[in-house]
Amino acid sequence: MTTQEIQLAERVRQIKPSPTLAVNAKAKALKASGADVLNFSVGEPDFDTPPHVCEAGKAAIDEGFHRYTAVPGILELREAVCARFKEDKGWTYEPDQIQVACGGKHGLYNMAQALFGPGDEVLIPTPYWVSYPPIVELAGATPVLVPLDEAKDFDLEVGILEKYITPNTRCIILNSPSNPTGSIFSQATLEAIGKAALQNGWVIITDDIYDTIVYEEGTLPHILDVDKRLVDQTLVLNGVSKSFAMTGWRIGYTAGPKHIIAAMNKIQSQSTSNPSSVAQKAALAAVSGPQDFPVTMKEAFIPRREYIVGALRSIPGVTCVNPKGAFYVFPNLSSYFGRTAGDKKITNSVELADYLLDEALLATVPGAAFGADAFIRFSFATSMDVLEEGMKRLREALAKLS
Ligand SMILES: *Cc1c(COP(=O)(O)O)cnc(C)c1O
Repeated sequence: MTTQEIQLAERVRQIKPSPTLAVNAKAKALKASGADVLNFSVGEPDFDTPPHVCEAGKAAIDEGFHRYTAVPGILELREAVCARFKEDKGWTYEPDQIQVACGGKHGLYNMAQALFGPGDEVLIPTPYWVSYPPIVELAGATPVLVPLDEAKDFDLEVGILEKYITPNTRCIILNSPSNPTGSIFSQATLEAIGKAALQNGWVIITDDIYDTIVYEEGTLPHILDVDKRLVDQTLVLNGVSKSFAMTGWRIGYTAGPKHIIAAMNKIQSQSTSNPSSVAQKAALAAVSGPQDFPVTMKEAFIPRREYIVGALRSIPGVTCVNPKGAFYVFPNLSSYFGRTAGDKKITNSVELADYLLDEALLATVPGAAFGADAFIRFSFATSMDVLEEGMKRLREALAKLS
């Protein structure tokens, strides 16, 4: 008798495997074999969590803060999040309008589980962050991809949005500054989105995880500042992963209408119960303590951004939008599609990323992972030395394609 493979759930079979996985696995294998792989694929700051935050985590361990916490997170942390929103943005939230989850991604997951089901459509401006479509699909709903134009700096054109609205549209997910493009939605765009959301009763999810890493002068346009009424239908996602270099601690938070947060708490109570007690204490130190760390980090990114954008734009056939925030660049390399390297023909971003890894030992993320095949994402959360060597290798590898 042959052993039958155990069958998996339909929802797992429906989720598409990430196109980044193959390139990632290969990069890891190459690195393990001793190859000098330069990693431009990482989606996290190249900084350590600041010492005062680590100390708060250690103190929580030493003081015996070891048990289950309240499902939505400890009250102190939710109060600190409210105070931070008030001080930084002027927004008023109460602690029962805040949920702390196991990272920003988990906050999104709780939102989708609490709000969406079969038949619901969620508008996702594209290029999008890799996890938005699968999180929507895991809730049984349908992602509707709304294309953003590189020529318009990836801002959303409202005329285009209208083509994707149906009676089933329930929500739009905003990410500004964006991963992968670094672009920011303009005030005019947000006003138009706000108007449509009010008219149609949509939920707005605004993923603000990069809002401390903005290179433009002045205030970052925000959907909540467009029209006061929108607060009743907006979920604000943020966290400490990027702003305090705490990706491994797994703390993110959502602010929103009480009844939606309560529904998300129900989901959390039956899944993770609460985020790590120790990580919550560390996040409390981050959110309530001095705010100079994110500024220092941003200042370190400024020369790197300038360098990598300049280097990319100087390569023949490459266009590159200047990112206004976050720590990624998203150059268009599609002019190299159709070219060959030896017997290998490059026809898309996955094949190009694969070629760059083989030929130049550069680990990048193909645009296909973000729903935009003409592009490749490079993270500049890495040292200037790596950036310079990486751009030299990129230029040489691209020049070899004929
Ligand atoms: C990193 C990131 C998040 C949050 O990540 P967590 O590690 O789960 O806190 C959310 N949205 C975007 C766009 C990100 O890049």
